[in-house]
Amino acid sequence: DVKHRTRNAWQDFTPELAQKQQDRVLMETQLRRAVDNEEFHLVYQPQVDLRRGQIIAAEALIRWSNHQLGEQRPDLFIGHAETTGDIVRIGRWVLREACRQVRQWRDEGLGVIRVAVNVSYRQFADDLARHVRELLEEFDLPGSALELEFTERVLIEDAPATLRTFAELRALGVLLSIDDFGEGYSALNYLRRLPIHGLKISQLFTEGVPGNRSDVAVCQAVSAIARSLGLGLVAEGIESESQRQFLLQLGVPVGQGFLFAPGLPPDEFASRLRGAQRPQAVQA
Ligand code: C2E
Ligand code: MG
Ligand code: MG
Ligand code: MG
Repeated sequence: DVKHRTRNAWQDFTPELAQKQQDRVLMETQLRRAVDNEEFHLVYQPQVDLRRGQIIAAEALIRWSNHQLGEQRPDLFIGHAETTGDIVRIGRWVLREACRQVRQWRDEGLGVIRVAVNVSYRQFADDLARHVRELLEEFDLPGSALELEFTERVLIEDAPATLRTFAELRALGVLLSIDDFGEGYSALNYLRRLPIHGLKISQLFTEGVPGNRSDVAVCQAVSAIARSLGLGLVAEGIESESQRQFLLQLGVPVGQGFLFAPGLPPDEFASRLRGAQRPQAVQA
């Protein structure tokens, strides 16, 4: 029980634990100032038509470079920022920078490229729809230039404003996708009620295809759900040609992963759009 576990945790308190605590405090202190100090930048990973190889969209992925901590991957710091609430400011910066970038690509004649942005559940509780509407106006973008990716966490938080926010975003023409689909906790029944456009199969599952039977089963199931509900589908984490072919056969139309490209600096992304219609495979 909880009490028992708490007591053990204190018995286990060690120098390593104290160090962890210090690391956490340092990261949270640095995170608080990181927006003002301009320590973030975005890289863009292509989402690729699995049949033809064309780039459909760019997923914006945040990168943080701090003088004390060095380069930090989002898996490490986003959770901290969610705990402290700093994710709200960081998330606003990400949305604005992504909109600015997609405006620039469109102005440079690179076509009607769309940008997908990851949003935290905490941003949903912070007037997300109004913020997005203001950004679309500021950069003179249609809602369809923007896709928001959120995890099932948003749905279990079940804040009263969430459904209204979904409806408002949808009314703006913004695309809505559930990221890391299948990793989450909740029942499938919400899928029918939400105004979403698509699902993203977690790389947790694409990793094991075509060899692992249970990963194959999950990918088949998600593909069938998407098809029968008329939802778009993107597979993440495609690293090999055999994965690409297998997912294509399952009816997954779009994918992203190191087979095509990692997250790229904006000018590299732009030259891919400009030049090769068929993205080159890269070494991960
Ligand atoms: P995600 O949204 O599911 O993004 C996919 C992650 O998988 C990215 O990691 C990407 O670099 C990585 N990846 C892409 N292709 C491959 C592949 O073929 N193989 C493998 N092994 N990995 C691949 P990254 O950039 O470290 O981001 C991790 C997570 O952090 C993201 O997962 C997302 O949940 C979160 N995140 C990233 N940027 C933001 C942001 O701006 N805001 C918020 N709230 N979360 C973000
Ligand atoms: Mg994502
Ligand atoms: Mg994902
Ligand atoms: Mg992920």
